[in-house]
Amino acid sequence: MKKILVITFLFATFVANTQTNRLTVNPEVRLPKDSVESVQLVAALNDFLESIPHGNTEKWILPAEKLETELLIDEMKGMDKKDSINFKPYLINVEALADMEAYSVQVSYMGIHNDAPVLRAIFELIVHKTGDGFRFSSPLLRNTKGWFKKEIDYLTYYYQDTVAENAIGQWASAIIEYNKKLNSNSPIVIYVCDDCNDMTCMLRLVGINYLMDVNGLKWLATNYIVKGKEFAIYTRRLSHQLKADTHDLFHGRANAVIPQETRSHYMICGCATVYAGSWGYSWEEIRKMFKTGMSYDKKTDWLKLYFERYNFGEDPKYPLQITQFINALIIQKVEKEQGFPAVMELLASGNMYNDRENFFRILEKVTGINEKNFNKEVGKLVQNIEE
Ligand SMILES: [Zn+2]
Repeated sequence: MKKILVITFLFATFVANTQTNRLTVNPEVRLPKDSVESVQLVAALNDFLESIPHGNTEKWILPAEKLETELLIDEMKGMDKKDSINFKPYLINVEALADMEAYSVQVSYMGIHNDAPVLRAIFELIVHKTGDGFRFSSPLLRNTKGWFKKEIDYLTYYYQDTVAENAIGQWASAIIEYNKKLNSNSPIVIYVCDDCNDMTCMLRLVGINYLMDVNGLKWLATNYIVKGKEFAIYTRRLSHQLKADTHDLFHGRANAVIPQETRSHYMICGCATVYAGSWGYSWEEIRKMFKTGMSYDKKTDWLKLYFERYNFGEDPKYPLQITQFINALIIQKVEKEQGFPAVMELLASGNMYNDRENFFRILEKVTGINEKNFNKEVGKLVQNIEE
């Protein structure tokens, strides 16, 4: 008798463990009235969620919305564990969609940390009824139905308001110009959302209704690369700019082609400053601000200021660091004398704080400036600043 009890107990534990990542249905959820459909829907959702870590989601995705759905699935990967916390999926909402044979469902990932519940994410999926069961898609196309569409070269824009067309024209020209320098022309689909003011709202568009890691971030744009194709989302602030501020755009374009390990953030920022200024100041205005605001002489230790990122800006809210300023002067000269391929080497000169030697090796190769002659050479650059 005792033995049987022990075996039963072990079996129960085993069943419980294999079920930990199965979906728990919140008792308040209004499942389809048809009980067979309701069981099939939950089973399909479970199978779909379980296919995500194995990478075999293909058969569950609605073929017509493959890339949009892959984008959402990429974000759903690895949701069950973060640091030491385990997260379980819960079905928290099911809504029949009146205009199509489908349901909108919401799945949350919840865990417990120090006896308190932790919400990691809430995802929204559209579950389509098809001839042979259910298929899943992102709500992106549904959320952007009826939006205007404009194709400019290899860019496709979707937007809600014709007011955005002014900024879209400027963004598109800048993307094409920057990409041309960076030798990239991969297609990009850009959603310009007039309802969005922050990250939370942009994510909701693609079906990420809540994400702990980015909650509250005031980002103005975000982008994803899915199977080589890029998707971007812009907020209202970007779409309603009379004059598009494309400094951050250059960062994004450069980051898309230069791997993180070799990227020099401060060189990229210096290059962005030459092309688009910084904080809304033009490159010309920044040079003037340097001339009037920075006191220096022949003994100035530029190398020290460079690594300390000394700020010569007038407004503490909008710092203008000497690092990017010197980089901008270097890049302007290098592009003029040697062309963009040489600039590209500087943009990929790595993190100067982590690998100072490598950084100066590349800087010297391209410009002749090394750690020893830095102060003398930068002194010359500063002396020759164009008015
Ligand atoms: Zn920058």
